[in-house]
Amino acid sequence: VAVRPTGDRRFRLLALTIALPLLAFSGFLAVTAIRTPTVSQPSAEEPPIDLRAALERAGIDVSRYARDGETLRVETTEEPESIAARLQQTLPSAQVTRDDRTIRVSRGGMSEVIVVSELPVVDSGAGLVSAGRAPAGKIAILLDDVGFQPGALSRAAAIHPAISFSVFPYAPGAARIAASLRGAGHDVLCHLPMEPTGYPAVDPGGEPILTHLEEEEIRARTLRNLDAVPGVIGVNNHMGSRATSNRRVMRAVVDALLEREGLFFVDSRTSSASLGHELALAAGLPSGARDVFLDDDRSVAAVRRQVRELAGIARKQGLAIGIGHLHASTLSVLEEEIPRLEGEGFTIVPISAAVRETAPAALLVRGVQSQPQKASPAATAR
Ligand SMILES: [Zn+2]
Repeated sequence: VAVRPTGDRRFRLLALTIALPLLAFSGFLAVTAIRTPTVSQPSAEEPPIDLRAALERAGIDVSRYARDGETLRVETTEEPESIAARLQQTLPSAQVTRDDRTIRVSRGGMSEVIVVSELPVVDSGAGLVSAGRAPAGKIAILLDDVGFQPGALSRAAAIHPAISFSVFPYAPGAARIAASLRGAGHDVLCHLPMEPTGYPAVDPGGEPILTHLEEEEIRARTLRNLDAVPGVIGVNNHMGSRATSNRRVMRAVVDALLEREGLFFVDSRTSSASLGHELALAAGLPSGARDVFLDDDRSVAAVRRQVRELAGIARKQGLAIGIGHLHASTLSVLEEEIPRLEGEGFTIVPISAAVRETAPAALLVRGVQSQPQKASPAATAR
């Protein structure tokens, strides 16, 4: 790929600052788009594909890119399969096909090719430039407790391709639900039921991880829950305010998750004493942690406030993780606020991208800094 060199030293410094920590982490990819010659005249009704805009709408971070003539290179941490699926959802009238790391987007006689390749170990001042506006921050939204509200789920899945979902392993049809969400390009997690402080009056359902269980039984239950939702890429805890703050129990869960390749953990932080995120990282399991619960209070005004708080954290920290549910108010607010947030320069990213990005930084600060937690009114129900 030919790229224009830049003489901007400040940018090179910035690029190094950004690139070096990321290079320590595999999965940092470059996307190269090559506009192929028109094979036939584009039809009058179909405008040419603006691939960068489409990638952005699909929730792929395109804040750093290089253009040289007809070549567009965008740095991203996304996997080709996920990029292709989300592009297809974003461009329903186009045909998106993928062969390994090559994605072809065709519409109205125009064809664009994206080649997803690993970034060279040393970026030789390749001239990656910043997009017109400074990115405001990245926001990951994980909707969990999925499995019992098909209508609400379809509505939620249509809001944005980068919204991620966590499915109850004990929901009837959990496997089918997960496959359908994955097919539409969404990240899908297993929503692992774990013991809350209010147990047994408060029941997490299914085959939960309970604090009186032996390690071997915790392992077996964790793996059975995972198997009930095939193809998941990660796990977050359902309830678990007691189980996640128990070191022995949480370590047994993490050990079981490590047996399955490529999984990550998201600590729902249903308790400020949760050890989930910390123990996962200590064991080498990529992990992220919830910053904001979106809908403890289901009123539209309250959910909107929480979404704004999430955006504030993303602006300050560069990235924020919000967890919500399939409540009508939550979906209404997301339908309104997500386009608004994108207009303000925020990027909605899948939870996997958020975890990939936060895990190395979190490893560095582990043990040094503990995040202050707000007391939650519904703590015992978690
Ligand atoms: Zn839950």
